[in-house]
Amino acid sequence: IGGLRIAVAAGPCAVESREQITEAALQVRKSGAVLLRGGAYKPRTSPYAFQGLGEEGLRYLKEAGEAAGLPVTSEIVAAEHISMMKDYVDVFQIGARNMQNFELLKRVGDAGKPVILKRGLAATVEEWLMAAEYLLSRGLEQVILCERGIRTFETSTRNTLDLSAIPVVKKVCHLPIIVDPSHATGLREKVLPMALAAVAAGADGLIVEVHPNPDKALSDGPQSLYPDQFEKLMRDVEALAPVLGKEVARIPFPVYSVPRISTGVDDTAGGAPSPGGRAAEAGISVAFQGERGAYSEMALKLYFHEDIARVEPCPAFQDVFEMVLKGAVTFGILPLENSLTGSIHENYDLLLQYPDIKIVGEQKLRIEHNLIGLPGASLDGIRKVFSHPQGLAQCSVFLDRYPAWERVPFYDTAGSVAHIAREKNPGFAAIASAGAARVHGLSVFKEGIETNPRNYTRFTVITLQEYPDPPEPDKASLVFSVPDKAGSLFMILRVLADKSINMKKLESRPILGKPWEYMFYVDVEYPADSRSFTEAVEAMQSLSEDFRVLGVYRS
Ligand code: PEP
Ligand code: MN
Repeated sequence: IGGLRIAVAAGPCAVESREQITEAALQVRKSGAVLLRGGAYKPRTSPYAFQGLGEEGLRYLKEAGEAAGLPVTSEIVAAEHISMMKDYVDVFQIGARNMQNFELLKRVGDAGKPVILKRGLAATVEEWLMAAEYLLSRGLEQVILCERGIRTFETSTRNTLDLSAIPVVKKVCHLPIIVDPSHATGLREKVLPMALAAVAAGADGLIVEVHPNPDKALSDGPQSLYPDQFEKLMRDVEALAPVLGKEVARIPFPVYSVPRISTGVDDTAGGAPSPGGRAAEAGISVAFQGERGAYSEMALKLYFHEDIARVEPCPAFQDVFEMVLKGAVTFGILPLENSLTGSIHENYDLLLQYPDIKIVGEQKLRIEHNLIGLPGASLDGIRKVFSHPQGLAQCSVFLDRYPAWERVPFYDTAGSVAHIAREKNPGFAAIASAGAARVHGLSVFKEGIETNPRNYTRFTVITLQEYPDPPEPDKASLVFSVPDKAGSLFMILRVLADKSINMKKLESRPILGKPWEYMFYVDVEYPADSRSFTEAVEAMQSLSEDFRVLGVYRS
């Protein structure tokens, strides 16, 4: 939890029965939650209200988590429960009412399991962070702060969600912060907007109450989402994530199951050291075009969740294909399309030239340009700005404010950063990703200088091998050429219409060496019924000249 991922925990307020928690677990897992919640010891305002199922509830919670493939979290209310609870839960939750129960904090800190520390009902950020210190001071590192609304004079919501706590905490503290829009608002219909607001404000995740049948819930029914509403929340968060340069965390991550392939290359050479994520253990190595810190490297970090044993920067797109083909890397990543400037044709052509290489995934990245310079240099001293011509063009409104700056086209954005890092001239600046500044030890003078902030690039992930356990596909990419006669393209596309397969993109490219003949690249939504896809492919194949499935994958 933290970094470039948005992790979502979900589940009912309380475990009520084996069936209820199992059903909830499967529902939230399907929509994309990565952690199952469910209270077994409920700190209720009234002693006559449902108090939770205790250890029995924890047993059901653990079983449900195992059935759905999700780790689980539950609230701990008393230190004497630690030794029993630690066999059932993966993450302890310390509730708002216990945030300053210092003896509990010390003992839970000693238990060594990750902790979600909820903010107290009337706790200042400083008091909350000091409570976190109680856990950290016992040597526990995995502490997740959770903003869940504070008590104010306002009565139209159960609590008042203090969204500003997110940037306030981020400024002073390295701990991840998640938001609980359910307890913060107490009202189901307010959960979605506040969840999105929390993500927009920089939250590292959410914890959301979802119940298979909220109307029958034994606690917090009015704020619990129906499973359909949670599905919608996840889709909206997914749509918002790229705007923030983030990715929604998913389980299982497809590359985890890819076996290590022998590369004959020293895996420890070059590239980013990995903190030992599962993909890193599997020896995932990824080639991209550009220098370290290129947008392609940002995209691969998002796709592979930063758990990569080795990254291989390559001078040209073709080198990425060659590295994959030779088995020198497990995967390659390539930009295929930019939302402002259109397709990157070279990569479409290369996909055709390497028939053994398959598309196995895709990643969208928001392109955020930054003005980068030497640490300690100032904006006033800048004389030259280096970047890829696209980078310069996409920041023209900003650059027009500084007519004295000479705009110097460079072969690549991250390369321009490497260049000014080498030159050490305080009059030089570059336009590239914040990651490029980080990699080369330079400073960001100004963030987000692109003229149009709705600038996204879609990358494709390629490999030689098949996933042994691929995730459910939702997209397929095809390429074909058609006979030179009336209606031939129409006939092929009609197959998609007949099978109700939604076409997402159609692109034509000249065939090398055959003037005025074209290959057609088609992206489609992969249908729920895989048979209709197979039948469509057979029918299209029989109507086309060359035909290939470039990949069937999860987008
Ligand atoms: C809960 O998560 O169910 C809960 C009781 O939350 P809080 O401690 O934030 O009130
Ligand atoms: Mn609750």
